[in-house]
Amino acid sequence: MARTDTDFAVVGGGVLGCMITREILARTPDASVVLLERDAVGSGASRRSAGLHFPRGSSERVRAMAAYSQDHYAALKAARPELPIHRLDMTVLADVSQEARLRETYLPEAKLRPVAEVAGGIARVPAGKAAWEGDGCQYADVHALTQLLARDLRPTAEFREGVAVTGLSAGPDAVELTLGTGDTLTAGHVVLAPGPWLAAPAWRDLVAPLGARVKKIVALHIEVPPDPGDWAVVFQDEDAFLLPYHQRGHWLFSYTCQEWDVDPDTLPAGISAADRREALDVLARYAPQLADRCVSGRVFCDAYGPGMQPLVRPLTDDGRVVFAGAANGSGYRLAPAIAAETAGLLPLPSQRKDAA
Ligand SMILES: Cc1cc2nc3c(=O)[nH]c(=O)nc-3n(C[C@H](O)[C@H](O)[C@H](O)COP(=O)(O)OP(=O)(O)OC[C@H]3O[C@@H](n4cnc5c(N)ncnc54)[C@H](O)[C@@H]3O)c2cc1C
Repeated sequence: MARTDTDFAVVGGGVLGCMITREILARTPDASVVLLERDAVGSGASRRSAGLHFPRGSSERVRAMAAYSQDHYAALKAARPELPIHRLDMTVLADVSQEARLRETYLPEAKLRPVAEVAGGIARVPAGKAAWEGDGCQYADVHALTQLLARDLRPTAEFREGVAVTGLSAGPDAVELTLGTGDTLTAGHVVLAPGPWLAAPAWRDLVAPLGARVKKIVALHIEVPPDPGDWAVVFQDEDAFLLPYHQRGHWLFSYTCQEWDVDPDTLPAGISAADRREALDVLARYAPQLADRCVSGRVFCDAYGPGMQPLVRPLTDDGRVVFAGAANGSGYRLAPAIAAETAGLLPLPSQRKDAA
């Protein structure tokens, strides 16, 4: 047997890498875990996330993951009330003909109830559309949450920030990681949670067969302060939403940008004229009064799995290297479930030893 430096190495210190580290240690508190992050914890997609959780899923698996994650976050918040996770009420708008599909897509816990208008009046209900109120929505400051999860984990996991993984070699008994520092790290098992960095040289060839792609994500900031009781508004047919971003003092409008196969290292940081135009086209249907207050925003990207399914897969025949991610712009809301699925592929007990 090769000597290993650590039982598990988790590559990527985003919300997912931290959740996975947490899950491994919850199941086996005695395990040694090293988390490797080329930048600072939470500085990838997790830094730009809008952090909205809505209680829905486009498939049975994603609905189960959403339900699991919703419960997990609720337990986490109950145990640590200071965490930046905030419950929100929600209004969903969809084509009147879509009610049956809507009821299938949303979790029963959402308890969708038809209403005539959007609470607070931030958006209108156009002809042909209908509105429903629902429960189970929450949002988080994902960057801050990731830092807090990391802080909690530091006594039991080893964090190496500013350390890029530049090479990966899977042997029969262990996996050797080459690091940007010139060191090597030998791990019994490696979890890759690289967010949109699917094409990093160390794992590009291993990850490519999964068929995941990277898509740009754009959200506009609307410089209008939300009222304390304002609700999230979900535009189901356009896969867009308005979020009252209380902790930052403005609204956020997220729409579905269709720019695919972007590179997280070279993606321009700012909003382009085309992004703004596309976003405002959608917003104009529901809240045209907000258009001239959409003066800023956030742009980054995320990994998307085939069929809009998150990917949790062994990358080597012996299962020593596992990929976790490609959560389709839902990596915050599904992170606890992805972490649990990932742990299920590792040689760990099936149950956590703690409560969330
Ligand atoms: C604008 C925007 C809005 C979003 N809104 C929502 C939302 O409302 N709700 C929701 O659920 N999701 C949302 N998402 C998606 C969500 O933020 C992501 O799915 C989630 O943050 C992904 O987390 P992650 O840990 O997998 O990836 P990341 O946070 O990207 O973490 C991956 C980490 O891996 C590190 N890394 C990469 N290569 C290496 C290497 N070679 N060596 C070591 N480390 C490496 C990176 O530095 C990075 O920190 C949004 C995303 C964006 C961009």
